[in-house]
Amino acid sequence: MAARLMSVDVETIVVGAGAVGLAVGRCLAMAGQEVMLLEQHALIGSETSSRNSEVIHAGIYYPPGSLRARLCVRGKELLYRFCAESNVAHARCGKLLVATHESQLPKLAAIKDTAERNGVTDLEPLGANAARALEPELACVAALISPSTGIIDSHGYMLALEGHIEARGGSLVLRCPVERIGHTGDGLYRLITGGEAPGIIACRNLVMSAGLFASKLARTLRFDAGYGVPETYYAKGQYYALSGPSPFKRHIYPTPHGAWLGLHATVDIGGRCKFGPDIEWIAEIDYGFKPEKLEQFLSFIRSYYPGLDASRLHPDYTGIRPKLYREGEPVPDFAIHGPQMHGLPGLVALYGIESPGLTASLAIGEMVAGMLARP
Ligand SMILES: Cc1cc2nc3c(=O)[nH]c(=O)nc-3n(C[C@H](O)[C@H](O)[C@H](O)COP(=O)(O)OP(=O)(O)OC[C@H]3O[C@@H](n4cnc5c(N)ncnc54)[C@H](O)[C@@H]3O)c2cc1C
Repeated sequence: MAARLMSVDVETIVVGAGAVGLAVGRCLAMAGQEVMLLEQHALIGSETSSRNSEVIHAGIYYPPGSLRARLCVRGKELLYRFCAESNVAHARCGKLLVATHESQLPKLAAIKDTAERNGVTDLEPLGANAARALEPELACVAALISPSTGIIDSHGYMLALEGHIEARGGSLVLRCPVERIGHTGDGLYRLITGGEAPGIIACRNLVMSAGLFASKLARTLRFDAGYGVPETYYAKGQYYALSGPSPFKRHIYPTPHGAWLGLHATVDIGGRCKFGPDIEWIAEIDYGFKPEKLEQFLSFIRSYYPGLDASRLHPDYTGIRPKLYREGEPVPDFAIHGPQMHGLPGLVALYGIESPGLTASLAIGEMVAGMLARP
């Protein structure tokens, strides 16, 4: 009970220590704010940020002018610079976006056009022979090569961000679930935290970067009439890893199916090849792996990698995308809601930060720091 009465005052709190929360925390700390990150788990990046493809996306697919497009392209530039300066393992390995059937050629041309409108002007079309000269195991009728696509050690990235925050006097509190948030007339947010050391922490600025739990957390706050907290839906993706040497040097992406980028082959920073993620809409957070999906994976992967030896594939992991739409509905943009949207001063709420959130994280941080800049 005594712990419940404890009150700590901090200028700015970020709830959630995934890649985005950490990047936001770093940008705020660099801007001179006193920052504290609160994370419910015992380790940083225990949810979506450690369960993704780790691809540094070029910014190819997203609607021109959207936050996803702009923050991806800007984020990619910031991320490469950050990785180089902070010794985070990464590689500008490139990717091939492939058409496996003539019917996909118009889609490939449309993607090149979208990429150019997003400022990604380095895509080059390749014929089947040129693509196979680069990646001899590949089967395709044509491809686009994206030289600025890369790969990152996402955990090393998050550790480096944590180091930057702490070097600027910021702090990270682990095992600190935020259960409720109140906003009072004195302009402060009061966060009721649970876990091992329950307490109340007051701050003037608050960033909710809670990933899959964004809507649940936001609903504990009382907003002005007229603001509705967006609903978060879940779409799980599963990965298989390939044992032995990777057949590819670059990532191989099939032509997207709607908003789903297809079962791609990625080569991680250790040279390991994995395939995924698929997409399965789920009602509750559940990271369980479904081995019965193997046949579906095999037939999809063989469309561009016919030499696949099934005995080399083994279950890897799953990740869950926080979606702001139901299956089949139009795909909305990232939702980064500041006071103009919800009416509460000093509050930024992030919802639906799915792919390319890892790539965009530093640009999201830059944007949020701008929204919370001191007058
Ligand atoms: C299958 C898959 C593949 C992807 N591939 C890529 C890719 O290749 N490239 C790319 O750029 N992006 C990719 N993404 C997207 C990227 O992984 C995410 O956009 C990014 O990791 C989101 O980071 P985050 O910090 O917002 O969320 P998270 O990593 O989920 O972090 C949110 C944190 O908030 C904490 N939290 C929540 N509620 C509370 C609370 N009440 N109190 C305290 N803590 C709380 C959680 O524990 C969690 O640690 C992929 C996503 C998925 C699912």
